[in-house]
Amino acid sequence: MTNRARITFCGGTGSVTGANFLFEADGQKILIDCGLTQGTKLADDINWSPFIYDPKSIDILFVTHAHVDHLGRIPKLIKEGFRGKIYSTLPTKSLAQPMLEDTMMILSKNTEMDLDLIYTKENIDIALSLWQGFEYHHSIKITDNLTAEFYNAGHILGSMMVLFKYNDKKILFTGDLGNSPSPLLPDTEKVLGVDYLIMESVYGDRNHESRNDRRKFLEEAIEDNHKRKGTLIIPTFSLERSQELLFELNELVEGNRIPVMPIFLDSPLAIRLTEVFKQYKDYFNENAQKALSSGDHLFDFPGLHATLKSEESKMIANVANPKVVIAGSGMSSGGRVVHHERHYLPDPNNTLLLTGYQAVGTPGRLIQEGVKMVRISNEYVNVRAHVVTISGYSGHKDSDGLLNFVEEMQENLQKVFVVMGEPKSALFLVQKLRDNLGIDAYAPEQGDSVLLVC
Ligand SMILES: [Zn+2]
Repeated sequence: MTNRARITFCGGTGSVTGANFLFEADGQKILIDCGLTQGTKLADDINWSPFIYDPKSIDILFVTHAHVDHLGRIPKLIKEGFRGKIYSTLPTKSLAQPMLEDTMMILSKNTEMDLDLIYTKENIDIALSLWQGFEYHHSIKITDNLTAEFYNAGHILGSMMVLFKYNDKKILFTGDLGNSPSPLLPDTEKVLGVDYLIMESVYGDRNHESRNDRRKFLEEAIEDNHKRKGTLIIPTFSLERSQELLFELNELVEGNRIPVMPIFLDSPLAIRLTEVFKQYKDYFNENAQKALSSGDHLFDFPGLHATLKSEESKMIANVANPKVVIAGSGMSSGGRVVHHERHYLPDPNNTLLLTGYQAVGTPGRLIQEGVKMVRISNEYVNVRAHVVTISGYSGHKDSDGLLNFVEEMQENLQKVFVVMGEPKSALFLVQKLRDNLGIDAYAPEQGDSVLLVC
């Protein structure tokens, strides 16, 4: 039987963020992700202008993982009448609530636009009531001819690729693809026999430094800072990167590789998310599971303090050096880390350790590029502290990793749609897929709609 399916690229084209794809098959209207566009202001029109489909007409929304650039527009979808089903893995469902509530809190401080009617507790609660979690590899029947199945993407806890089988064709949406091997998570799974692939391309044009040295670099940065009796600040993303760092620090402290000293996790969201991680130990990789079965608490070690309340956060300044402070946001553009940076960056005994992607124009990027003075929260701060970057902790596959991923499933591939990357990155990957693998690949633009023969 030959039939047709349609994919419409509603968001996440020409940009890393804002993932939103419409897949229509066998009379069903299915969304894959419904994310915020980030990098500029959250209040930007692009996030709050109308969807190009009618939310009331959508039957199912699949959420590949809990980053807000994949689920942050769900409250708007609800506000505009969506009452279909929401499907994800179980950890994604558990992580979604703190992620959505944190975004609600950030937006509530925004006075430029009247967003409080969209991002309400009520709309978040409705979304959660429609939400159902599934295990990886469970076959979800949508119609007699259409099923969906989740494969581990290895990007963050609970991240999945969703594979649709329609008649005898397989269509795979990757979501974000992990930079395997990860300290905590299993590797990205192989999916075989895919006919149509819709894939991310964040690092489509770049390769990462060696991952093997990342723990060694972390150890050295902590030891150097300890010798100088300074404060080491690590601006970090709350979801996954914070837990990865705690896991690495746990290994270093308990293996006596670094001296015991106060280490503060100063991020209410990261603390809340870490509690969710503790509920899903079965989703960790073999190494992490082994450590757990030997009685180790992966996110808890001598010297660690979780500072939930802002009074506790302020007390950190009174604690004698040397010490380590992990705080958000990851690009120093907000959150508690900015207070620490104002306090500690002027002192050459201190260290700022960058482990994540720093977007152009953010304070984190400017400091990484070596400016001697930076504006943080409307205040100019001298940067005399040591600045160290470790790039091996990226959560995304690099250019070679993406190419290998496609090469392994090349056999049946008819077409690859390259999305979720800056244009330069997406187009570079398209060219590589064509040149190296001889695959029909292209980078769609926002609003493009294509028919698939199924
Ligand atoms: Zn992600």
